[in-house]
Amino acid sequence: MSDGVFNVPVPVNEPVYDYAPGSSERTAIAFRLEQMHAEEIEIPVIIGGREIRTGNTAQVVSPHDHGHVLATCHQAGADEVAAAVKASADAWHEWSTMSWESRAAIFLKAADLLSGPWRTTLNAATILNQSKTVFQAEIDSACELIDFWRFNVHYADQLMREQPASSPGIWNRSEYRALEGFVFAVSPFNFTAIAGNLPTAPAIMGNTVLWKPATTALLSGYYVYKLLEEAGLPPGVINFLPGKGAQVGDPVIADPGFAGVHFTGSTPVFHGMWQNIGNNIARYRSYPRIVGETGGKDFVFAHPSANLEVLATALIRGAFEYQGQKCSAASRAYVPSSLWPSLKERLADQIGSIKMGTPLDFSNFMAAVIDESSFDKISSYVDEARSDSRYELVAGGGCDKSAGYFIQPTLVVSEDPKSRLMSEEIFGPILTLHVYDDARIDEALDLCDTTSPYALTGAIIGDDRAELDSLTKRLRHSAGNFYINDKPTGAVVGQQPFGGSRASGTNDKAGSAMNLLRWTSVRSIKENFVPPTSFAYPHMD
Ligand code: NAD
Repeated sequence: MSDGVFNVPVPVNEPVYDYAPGSSERTAIAFRLEQMHAEEIEIPVIIGGREIRTGNTAQVVSPHDHGHVLATCHQAGADEVAAAVKASADAWHEWSTMSWESRAAIFLKAADLLSGPWRTTLNAATILNQSKTVFQAEIDSACELIDFWRFNVHYADQLMREQPASSPGIWNRSEYRALEGFVFAVSPFNFTAIAGNLPTAPAIMGNTVLWKPATTALLSGYYVYKLLEEAGLPPGVINFLPGKGAQVGDPVIADPGFAGVHFTGSTPVFHGMWQNIGNNIARYRSYPRIVGETGGKDFVFAHPSANLEVLATALIRGAFEYQGQKCSAASRAYVPSSLWPSLKERLADQIGSIKMGTPLDFSNFMAAVIDESSFDKISSYVDEARSDSRYELVAGGGCDKSAGYFIQPTLVVSEDPKSRLMSEEIFGPILTLHVYDDARIDEALDLCDTTSPYALTGAIIGDDRAELDSLTKRLRHSAGNFYINDKPTGAVVGQQPFGGSRASGTNDKAGSAMNLLRWTSVRSIKENFVPPTSFAYPHMD
């Protein structure tokens, strides 16, 4: 209880540093990278604020230098899950009834710590462990995560101010309660910001959380946890459970206290989890909230009126930044035959000039893909493009995993608009493109809408305003995040709430009030100031 109605600070997006030569941020990150590259740390399981060393360990390495060990990590199993369920239940009452401003202050402090003293640590961890270039790390592990924390506090505050009408003599109130039980947060490797958001969005709404980070992003995950601890997050509110998917996931989902899952990752894993939840439905104390943002086969559709430079830039940045490992990465494109000859030349030239290598060399635009199984999967698509005559390999195609998992930015033309490369999520630096006849643009739009089961992001490029309107309507359900004359990546918290539909997820829009609504169970309270004292109604006189 507080004697005051407080306003949380109005959030603004965190400014992005550019790390140009001579800048102070460049000096700071170079120093921190050197320090962290030279050390090898131990990452424990953390339950109820206590560090647990299970002895069942795995190595955390740099994808661009896979012989280089960054950490040894202890992995959780069924015993640790049981302990974490208990720790979260022990923390639940105090956390879910803590005054809102105290809870909010923890996440606002976390945002300021990350904006200041923790920025280089989280960025360096993301560069070293997830092989992001310095700029890709900055927009993810610094700016987006800071934005998630500041904007989610603001949205939660707005939600709680959403109150019902009251009639004379009556006061109606909505109370935004935490879910009864715990939320299971399961994060992917590719965004430190998502890893930080998945456990904290439910925690902001008063829930306690079991968090399973991705096994290939444990260094940044661990430091996110340590930062939250420094910000004042009480023990047991978020429990850190590194470990193998099903070994952690199955016992969590079988627990009666399971109240929801906040997942981001691939579509098949989410399907499996949903099925598992269905099988356990009779065990739960309440119906669990199921929130999942999943895979994509994101498109760029070029109209014949497209500006070639705009189109080439959207394709290259959209497809190859972070090695194509953004869920929103441009992975298929539809280009009119009238533009293709000049676009082909431009793309081949520009792709040929892309520098790839270790992210410790800041002049590189691309680094390595995340691990060996990703490398093998992506290179099998390259092999297919080489061996099947329906494809033409226009640029790239080189794959080398001897020192790091490097795959060149690759451009493939597919004669068959429904080929595997045009329809499956590859999650790597391969852009597949289909050239359509300008006169048959309607058919091309149908192909764009129906070729893949996903509907995450998409972009249209063109200068004809009336045509842009008609394409926007035509592709209404093809993407949850839709871009006009821009690349399909780079959503900003507070500006383009993120999420897709169809096989791309439940579209609960990360970093928005829509997402936070899933983590609360509202109690409607009616208070009658002058209650009736007789059961008779006037019409009975
Ligand atoms: P993934 O599905 O392999 O793993 C995601 C997480 O699920 C990891 O922590 C993993 O350990 C865990 N997991 C795996 N099996 C599990 C199980 N049985 N029970 C519980 N947890 C389990 O995904 P990834 O390779 O880390 O990330 C890439 C995928 O994520 C791509 O498909 C990409 O499109 C998607 N993604 C989507 C969005 C979005 O907003 N839509 C954002 C980022 C990534």
